[in-house]
Amino acid sequence: MPKTEVILPDPETGKRYNAQSSCLKARFGRKAVKISLNGGFTCPNIDGTKGTGGCTYCSAKGSGDFGGDPRDSIAEQFRSGKAALEKKWGTDAVYIPYFQANTSTYAPLSRLKRLYGEALAQENVVGLAVSTRPDCISAKTADYLGELARQTYLTVELGLQTVHDETAARINRCHSYGDFLTGYELLRRRGVNVTVHIINGLPGESREMMLETVRRLSKLDIHGIKIHLLHMIRGTETARQYLNGEFAAMTMEEYVETVCDQLELLPKSVMIERLTGDGDRATLVAPLWSMDKKAVLNGIDKEMRRRGSVQGCRF
Ligand code: SF4
Repeated sequence: MPKTEVILPDPETGKRYNAQSSCLKARFGRKAVKISLNGGFTCPNIDGTKGTGGCTYCSAKGSGDFGGDPRDSIAEQFRSGKAALEKKWGTDAVYIPYFQANTSTYAPLSRLKRLYGEALAQENVVGLAVSTRPDCISAKTADYLGELARQTYLTVELGLQTVHDETAARINRCHSYGDFLTGYELLRRRGVNVTVHIINGLPGESREMMLETVRRLSKLDIHGIKIHLLHMIRGTETARQYLNGEFAAMTMEEYVETVCDQLELLPKSVMIERLTGDGDRATLVAPLWSMDKKAVLNGIDKEMRRRGSVQGCRF
């Protein structure tokens, strides 16, 4: 499907960035929403293959706190997710199943084919999204994902978090920026859309380092980006370091300004899939202001308006 031209500010919503909701509506002609699924995957940074203990901020649920229950089949998870979404969006929406929890390409190809196939066979499904680590894309997996990308609207979400290897080591990512580029290339050479996850507020990172992450990504051919705020979740190493005074949390003002800078640096063709994180209220230690998501998003809109800027104006 050809890319539609992005006009900013969006004439319908007034948004000064290329928001996922508008993008998907333009592509499918109606509301398209993701349904989070849990394929019961593990993670090589937890099982000892790449590392142990996981990323220092990873929650007990493998950073997929809103995914389905892996004890249920994919069809069951999809049905209950759809029923919940219908209460909000009615019955006219179309769906993109989203394998969110843990590392959703970390399994034999036969299992991936079965799980993804089951998700794609559900009612009113128009695409598929798969979240994974960049070092968990083998050539064989990339070949299969390339095939899928020719059949449906497929997006593979790669967790990068930062381009700075010293930060990656500090948060125990157990992969480098070079590893990310290898995974990215394997997918892009096969025509697979790549969305990248980054995190603002990682320990030891200045605003300039966060902007550098986006500057480097803006030189690649990425389809979308998810910008997260570092959440300190109870029981994680990150929360322990924070409570121990080893680093400070970002203020809302700092976060809003940084995100606006990042939006200005990104090409306007890049779909903005997320501008803040969804911390689990019951376990979030800090920053507590992030629980008011609406205030964060309104703050970003307000700051972009104040600057008179739009996504891509400094690309
Ligand atoms: S790669 Fe993802 S699932 Fe694995 S430890 Fe890190 S955050 Fe958790």
